[in-house]
Amino acid sequence: MNKIKMTAPLVEMDGDEMTRILWQDIKDELLLPFLDLKTEYYDLGLAHRNETNDQVTKESAEATLKYGVAVKCATITPNAARMTEYNLKEMWKSPNGTIRAILDGTVFRTPIIVKGIEPCVRNWELPITLARHAYGDVYKSVEIKVPGAGKAELVYTGADGTEIRETIQEFKGAGVLQGMHNTDQSIESFARSCFSYALDTKQDLWFATKDTISKKYDHTFKDIFQEIYDQDYKEAFEKAGITYFYTLIDDAVARVMKSKGGFIWACKNYDGDVMSDMVSSAFGSLAMMTSVLVSPKGVYEYEAAHGTVMRHYYKHLKGEETSTNSVATIFAWSGALRKRGEMDELPELVDFADKLEKATVQTIEEGKMTKDLALISSLLDVKVLNSEDFIKAVRTTLEHSF
Ligand code: NAP
Ligand code: MG
Repeated sequence: MNKIKMTAPLVEMDGDEMTRILWQDIKDELLLPFLDLKTEYYDLGLAHRNETNDQVTKESAEATLKYGVAVKCATITPNAARMTEYNLKEMWKSPNGTIRAILDGTVFRTPIIVKGIEPCVRNWELPITLARHAYGDVYKSVEIKVPGAGKAELVYTGADGTEIRETIQEFKGAGVLQGMHNTDQSIESFARSCFSYALDTKQDLWFATKDTISKKYDHTFKDIFQEIYDQDYKEAFEKAGITYFYTLIDDAVARVMKSKGGFIWACKNYDGDVMSDMVSSAFGSLAMMTSVLVSPKGVYEYEAAHGTVMRHYYKHLKGEETSTNSVATIFAWSGALRKRGEMDELPELVDFADKLEKATVQTIEEGKMTKDLALISSLLDVKVLNSEDFIKAVRTTLEHSF
């Protein structure tokens, strides 16, 4: 077989622990035998981030701006325990945070649906993609624990000295206060990422806030989305046969539960935090969730939504067998390869990405899967495979598709 050619490289961001092991296995078994794989490699493993004073993370994000598409392995976000474990010079920031700060943009999470792993919600036939605005609101708020009676005010002082002042509350006794913000710029880039991703994936876009109660704050989100839609996306949406739909957050929740799926649900920061955990657990497994960062600068970074699966890694280090699910990491690769193929007009590469995903799904639907899925599968005849053997089984299925 002739290997499929690539013209431009993917930015490859290697990572940590069990997912780093899966990463190499996926490349060896599912990519290198079929593709003339071109990547620009960045080692984001914690040891190398520490050696480079985390420069490597920034460089990988800048390379993504240059080439347009990245694929990322899960990485450790250091905490106190990791400081000792890896003898770190500093408690380096979350790589995802650093990358997002450079690329800007929104994270879209989508469950991978297979027969035999049924979502808790019976009518969800198609995936629901959740888009979470990742800036501001309660995540960047300041809070005061009010000690007793007194007056609380909201004060804004403009650069030219003009003042806007509102009384929040005349406290008669103790209480709590919170001040939060967002910026038009961040809301606009959130909106643009959502509209472009909807067009990209040909799915309807839903957006919801509580604008009936929050007549200035949430209403601004609603207005900005509408303005950008009318100005820049309406025509393209109509051409693509998809719709943009705004409603109240409580109405959205009720409709989502009754829907059959197949759309993108854009949420403000807090709603997205809560709803993404609900949607992903209702679809069955965190190990079956993909994630893509879509930047308003037109660049994409694909990864699995789960972490480095540390518990399995320590078993692996002790020489014990593991059964770690590599599906979301395989889909990170296929997502990135498909995007590369679309950008570079390489239909064979797009076709390979489709085949890789189909082979992965088919392998599971034939009853060959890792332990986490076997525990929740409704299939009668299930064979539990270890980490390596699952990837080998996908390779066998993939070979049959050529
Ligand atoms: P995790 O890696 O997501 O794993 C938590 C548990 O979920 C695992 O112990 C396992 O349960 C199950 N699980 C997750 N992915 C699985 C898979 N692919 N196959 C089978 N089971 C899977 O979270 P964590 O252990 O709390 O975090 C480990 C490290 O990941 C942390 O250092 C954290 O900073 C990092 N992290 C990175 C990212 C990222 O890079 N995007 C995201 C989240 C966390 P059982 O043990 O019950 O089998
Ligand atoms: Mg959460």
